[in-house]
Amino acid sequence: MLGLSVNSDSVVRDGVIWQSEWTTAEEGPYTRLAKIVIANAEDHRFACRFVLAVSPNTSQVTGEFHPRTLLFGNWIGHCRSEAHAFAPSLRQRALDRIVGPWWRWLACDDRLRYCRSCLSHGHQSALAQISAIQRCPVHGELLRDTCSGCGAPAPRYAVDGSFDAPLVCSHCGDPIAGGGHSIDFAGDWEAGAAFDQGHAALAQHLSPLLTSNLVWEDVGRWWPSAARGTAKHKCAVFNVLRAVLGLRIPQDLLAPRTVTCVQVKAIERAPIGGVSEKGRLAITKAIRRHLLRALPRRTTNRTALLSSAFQVDGIARQVIAMAPCSPRLHASLIWMLRFGAWPFDEHFRWQRYARIELPNDLLMWPGQMQVTDASWGAFAWSCLLADEAAAIRWHNGLRAHQTKPPTTCQWMQLSNELRAQTSALTVPTPLGVAMLFRMRSTGSGLDVWLARECLDVSSPAEAERGLG
Ligand SMILES: [Zn+2]
Ligand SMILES: [Zn+2]
Repeated sequence: MLGLSVNSDSVVRDGVIWQSEWTTAEEGPYTRLAKIVIANAEDHRFACRFVLAVSPNTSQVTGEFHPRTLLFGNWIGHCRSEAHAFAPSLRQRALDRIVGPWWRWLACDDRLRYCRSCLSHGHQSALAQISAIQRCPVHGELLRDTCSGCGAPAPRYAVDGSFDAPLVCSHCGDPIAGGGHSIDFAGDWEAGAAFDQGHAALAQHLSPLLTSNLVWEDVGRWWPSAARGTAKHKCAVFNVLRAVLGLRIPQDLLAPRTVTCVQVKAIERAPIGGVSEKGRLAITKAIRRHLLRALPRRTTNRTALLSSAFQVDGIARQVIAMAPCSPRLHASLIWMLRFGAWPFDEHFRWQRYARIELPNDLLMWPGQMQVTDASWGAFAWSCLLADEAAAIRWHNGLRAHQTKPPTTCQWMQLSNELRAQTSALTVPTPLGVAMLFRMRSTGSGLDVWLARECLDVSSPAEAERGLG
């Protein structure tokens, strides 16, 4: 039986062999389930039907997560035989039990991620699925998502066909963690208990995710690129939550901050009735003056420059760049249209007395409460920086085309792809800007934060720069 020695203490109930010493307190559901299957020389149908009381589902994955994902423990809850000691233990350290509903914004199930030293003793923590965590808290090793022998992709973190031969590479047939065929599974499994402490400490650092009543309503649409749902998106979400909740996770366990830079700022609240439209109009006007100063002073030059590169879609409230130009200039136009501070007519002719008509959603941001003008100014400026990030994506897209300048079809396609980021039609704020809040434990009011995605930056000093 795969080198497995079943001793007299092994529990046999309902015809299933199990021994509680094979798993440890901090172990996630993946290896727990794998061990039941290995010990009983069974397959993924057994794992589904007998252990989890669900039908196997190996159909093409259409959504972000596999229908039998192991990231989320609640569906695992209905084992056919609760008499088994392993029934409740399977979901006990699933990721949603450690980080609450944030699991779907922090982790991916496309591949099993593991520390080689841990997995060679049959231990994998659900924490390894968190995209932002890059190293094992016990061994300090980089987590892997490929077979350590042949480099083939590791299986999904889900109960699929790979459970016909759990923890074994489907490509080379060796254990994923290496060690050849002679691994003594049962003996090694018991050694996994030594890794619990390090994983428990990391879970403790993450516990504010579970206990705080933090609300981030638009977390799902916050990431403004096509890369939504990817590991990079999840690292960025993690960095926001880490900053807001003050999670004290050792930096050396995490993905480098330069990869997914975010900036988080606490928002100051204003007394009720302390918000005046006048102050916000003045801020908007000041930012607009700043932006217009970068344009040619002569009106004919300015009109020629803008009309050669841009078109305005008045219905979608979107500024379309048809030819490569300065992304900063593009962002200025997006922002002025967004903030009702558009100083031109439809042909980019200067309108001397153009009034600022700040849309109500922006004027009253963040809506749930009133904030000081200084905080609102930081928000307005963050919107400009987020629009600049979108404009840079746009211009990278334009540059990627072979034809110079791009054809109408190409820039139309780009404007469709980036519509949500650059148009104020559906959401008034740029997608790269988010608001989070938390009820104070004393019951008196809210704490509020503004978070913004930053562009990939090369120097850490840039990443640390304040919101201004
Ligand atoms: Zn490890
Ligand atoms: Zn392999």
